[in-house]
Amino acid sequence: MTAKMNSVCYHAPGQMSIIQTDIPKIDDNQVLVKVTCCGICGSDVGICSGGFGVKFPLIPGHEIIGIVSQVGALVKDFVVGDRCAVDNIINCEACFFCRRNQPIQCTNIKIIGVHLPGAFTEYIAVSAKMVYKIGGISDEEAIFIEPISCAIHGVDRLGSLVPGMNALVIGAGVHGIVLSQLLKLNGASCVTLAANRGKKMDIARQVNAADVYVEFDRADPTSQWTSLKEENPLGFEVVIDATGSAKVVNDALDFVRSGGTLLLYGLYSDDAMVQWSPTKIFANEIKVIGSFGQKHCFSRALEYLQRNKINVKGLVTDVFPINDFNNAMDKVGTKDCCKIVIKPSL
Ligand SMILES: [Zn+2]
Ligand SMILES: [Zn+2]
Repeated sequence: MTAKMNSVCYHAPGQMSIIQTDIPKIDDNQVLVKVTCCGICGSDVGICSGGFGVKFPLIPGHEIIGIVSQVGALVKDFVVGDRCAVDNIINCEACFFCRRNQPIQCTNIKIIGVHLPGAFTEYIAVSAKMVYKIGGISDEEAIFIEPISCAIHGVDRLGSLVPGMNALVIGAGVHGIVLSQLLKLNGASCVTLAANRGKKMDIARQVNAADVYVEFDRADPTSQWTSLKEENPLGFEVVIDATGSAKVVNDALDFVRSGGTLLLYGLYSDDAMVQWSPTKIFANEIKVIGSFGQKHCFSRALEYLQRNKINVKGLVTDVFPINDFNNAMDKVGTKDCCKIVIKPSL
């Protein structure tokens, strides 16, 4: 009898059940990873409702940590028992964008947990070249390799950062917390983190994410925005929206210093619109850029964690078993959590 495993499976938008399937077989270049931990990303809400071009049935889950439990015949760098993280982006290396070194824009991109079976399951077969050993850090730290990799790509997108720049990060979810720390490590003399008052902001302070914290009143943040403007009349060289709110992005432009950059780093609804003065962008020479996902940033993210340069202790606020996936998803995006992870062993 073949061994079976349990997986979260979406059959249609929002329609999930736990399925039992055979443990996948690996080819010569793959390893079989026993999943110990898989983070729920904000994007999983969109993915499980049919966004991002997903095809059902789908096993979601793209923040993957586990243990190598089988090794393909041609794999040299891993042995059974290696703890590992799995990169989730597979680009085709042949399309127009891949040939121009823009793998994230690959027109044939395949993302594990979006277009390919993901890791809200017990075992996953992946190409060994997607796998990174994670010595020296815990699973609950390693779960942040993927979000930190995305943040590294975001900072790469900002281009050459000037030592002594000041930055404003809006939003204190995982991405805001990680981006703030990364900016401090990459030349910012002062990072201001502005977000709604609550648990996420408390965690941001605990990990010393920023230099200055602006806590918005959830009911009416007008006065905090006004004093932020008064205290920083020339604005910030770098402003990052990590909220995904079009309204925040719209207003964020007013906080960009002349010659500065606004980075859009949130999941916006497809029909969201902003209304900006083109004159301001033109005359004040403002750059507006986007950053989506990452490619080949895992090893840098891992080193930041191994060297304790980025602190993620306490960011995992909730752990759920596979069987409780619906409850975990209900909690994602609420103000009472930061990172939620699924542990198949529970
Ligand atoms: Zn994600
Ligand atoms: Zn491609």
